[in-house]
Amino acid sequence: MFDEKSKIKFENNNLIVPDTPYIVFIEGDGTGPDIWRASQLVFDSAVKKVYENKRKIQWVEALAGEKAFKETGKWLPEKTLELIRELRVGIKGPLTTPVGKGIRSINVALRQELDLYACIRPVRYFDGVPSPIKHPEKVDFVIFRENTEDLYAGIEWQAETPEAKKVSEFLFKEFGKKLPDTVGIGIKPISKFATERLTRMALKYAIKNKKNVVTFVHKGNIMKFTEGAFKNWGVECAKNEFREYIVLEEENLSKEGKILVNDRIADAMFQQIILRPDEYKVIVTPNLNGDYLSDAAAALVGGLGMAPGANIGDGYAVFEATHGTAPKYANLDKVNPSSVILSGVMMFEYLGWNEVANIIIRAIEKTIKNKTVTYDLARQMEGAKELKCSEFGQAIVDNME
Ligand code: NAP
Repeated sequence: MFDEKSKIKFENNNLIVPDTPYIVFIEGDGTGPDIWRASQLVFDSAVKKVYENKRKIQWVEALAGEKAFKETGKWLPEKTLELIRELRVGIKGPLTTPVGKGIRSINVALRQELDLYACIRPVRYFDGVPSPIKHPEKVDFVIFRENTEDLYAGIEWQAETPEAKKVSEFLFKEFGKKLPDTVGIGIKPISKFATERLTRMALKYAIKNKKNVVTFVHKGNIMKFTEGAFKNWGVECAKNEFREYIVLEEENLSKEGKILVNDRIADAMFQQIILRPDEYKVIVTPNLNGDYLSDAAAALVGGLGMAPGANIGDGYAVFEATHGTAPKYANLDKVNPSSVILSGVMMFEYLGWNEVANIIIRAIEKTIKNKTVTYDLARQMEGAKELKCSEFGQAIVDNME
């Protein structure tokens, strides 16, 4: 039983956060426990530093992944979903996805079950982090990836099963589309409903955070009724609901003080973010494009070890590491915990505890500038001192001002 007074509430589209909120955590598999220990130390220390004893997080552990499977026989127990539904905000380490065994990705399941329809990935540079590009400081954008639809909806049939044959026969009989006998089939649903709610979230974010460009990234030149429709619905929604804030690229209007709304074809966007990253501030894109683009963008600013992420719905949010479980480093106290720590920064911003977010960011900046970093950054930085995962967490705490 939880104390009602410490539960986060969601009323009239507003999050109401008590001083001692419950937050659900899933430590994750593989390197997850090492990363979680370092991250929790940073979070608790930052809250204490800023608010002394006035505010404090009450952590509530939920099980998922291998730990859950060992203890309950389920990869994602219903209890975990219930906890997040009840307490609204969670943060998680990476979880194992067994490949090709018919078990749906736990991450995808969490997003779908809780209708966390936007995957938000800020991509920004920390001074001193090794980067493959000449001006990584120009990279500063946020990706809003649709999180519930597209080829990730899980509507697919394995080749040579009765189901795949039935769908194949239907397509031939009803539409004259002949597929090979050995075909596996996946469905790519993209709806106006999901596109519009993602667009609203991205535009509200752009307005609130004074970001002056919102770009729809799609492959609508080829997939007209899914990706093309995504772009059309998104732009229409921006025009209909945010007219006073926006100007379209093709409009011959002053862009002064407005948010420029434009679109780019997905493949071209991969070179855009490398060659002219400073032209992009908020990117809105369907699920699959967003998955690829997020990791490619993370590579520009230090790789997945430095990339945070959040899955957000209406009144529910799960913040997460963007990398996987890196099983070869499990329990070696070695890997970089920054992805979870920076996801925590997003979480504190979501809670409205911006002072905590800021103090952590500044401490990370200082720790990296001092060249005291984990192996992944140390191996690319001249003169760096390699720290263990736990030592890196402690260094961040020591650098909090
Ligand atoms: P991965 O776990 O992300 O690891 C790939 C490589 O990325 C590692 O070998 C390491 O590179 C680097 N890396 C990952 N995390 C790091 C960290 N915290 N600090 C520094 N370097 C880090 O990818 P994977 O091996 O393909 O996947 C392993 C498992 O994770 C699979 O079961 C997969 O399904 C799952 N997964 C989960 C999530 C999630 O929960 N969100 C996401 C992706 C994958 P070096 O070897 O070069 O040191």
